[in-house]
Amino acid sequence: MKVFKDTDAKPAAVKGKPVAIIGYGSQGRAHALNLHDSGCEVIIGLRDGSPTAAKARADGLTVMSVAEATKAAGLIALLTPDMSHEKIFASEIAPNLSAGDALLVAHGFTVLYERIKPGSDIDVILVAPKGPGDLVRREYERGAGVPALFAVHQDASGEARDKALAYASLIGGTTAGAIETSFKEETETDLFGEQAVLCGGATELVLAGFETLTDAGYAPEIAYYECLHELKLIVDLLYEGGLAKMHEFISETAIYGDLVSGPRVVNDETRARMKDVLTDIQNGTFAKNWIAENEAGKPEYDRMLSEDLAHLIETTGKELRGMMPWLQQKKDKAA
Ligand code: NDP
Ligand code: MG
Repeated sequence: MKVFKDTDAKPAAVKGKPVAIIGYGSQGRAHALNLHDSGCEVIIGLRDGSPTAAKARADGLTVMSVAEATKAAGLIALLTPDMSHEKIFASEIAPNLSAGDALLVAHGFTVLYERIKPGSDIDVILVAPKGPGDLVRREYERGAGVPALFAVHQDASGEARDKALAYASLIGGTTAGAIETSFKEETETDLFGEQAVLCGGATELVLAGFETLTDAGYAPEIAYYECLHELKLIVDLLYEGGLAKMHEFISETAIYGDLVSGPRVVNDETRARMKDVLTDIQNGTFAKNWIAENEAGKPEYDRMLSEDLAHLIETTGKELRGMMPWLQQKKDKAA
């Protein structure tokens, strides 16, 4: 697989005209500041009375309405939450685009599922850093960068791919290394990862382990340490050096237990369920349900979330984390 580096990018494909960053949250702020420091003219587009406008101004950036920012820019990066895209695009962005402009997203959901459909004279591109905004900013400031994916959905100008690669380079993505993908691949794998493995899969695994121990009469505090707290140690090892590094640092007994018991928990039935989750993503069922849930005001979402948060593992964890002063320090630093 080709990895695109700084020398593969032509920054001029983006630098000639102002770049509008719509939304100044996790990704928006990081992209905007990195583009600015890379020598681009950046305009932040926010709704009237936006609480984040003051932050953008304090960072030395120009803030306009979404419509004005769209008009002024040649590339418009829509970096608000995915469920807000449809309305913002229809009311503020679409009427103010000019032929040859580029619309950029950091996740393909709303383009792939056709919640936004830019005209055929607009480039539609994606640049998705593989990390949260604060890391994208921090690594750039160090002269490094966070790896990124880039993709082209629609090439109206003949330069869509150059623009995507240029944008990736200007936020630090090609310093680390960028990989080309498609909107379909980025969106479907991103959704699958967060549902089956990262957010959905991992939390259910933790809860099932916690409940198995507490149902068997073990103390919730001990179960919390074993099934949630220590997960971080394992994830850090996996992140740093894959299975090999984890095996290097855990005990021989833990390795043997991993090899014989892991496949008893995550087995062919689990794989079949994962395939079902993937099928729902691929055929649009998940997107349809999530969009409908949003339109209904998120009643099921709120119900399921409050059920999750009422779990014994939450009260147990809160108490135990109070005994971990280093977590408090981390929170203060982030604030
Ligand atoms: P955030 O939730 O951090 O975005 C918040 C910003 O969006 C604020 O400036 C907020 O302005 C604005 N906003 C929210 N709702 C609206 C609205 N209805 N109308 C106008 N502005 C609004 O978003 P993220 O950075 O998390 O995500 C942005 C995009 O990046 C998404 O497509 C996401 O999938 C993608 N992405 C996110 C990653 C991440 O790490 N978070 C990683 C990779 C991709 P206000 O102050 O007015 O509320
Ligand atoms: Mg994700």
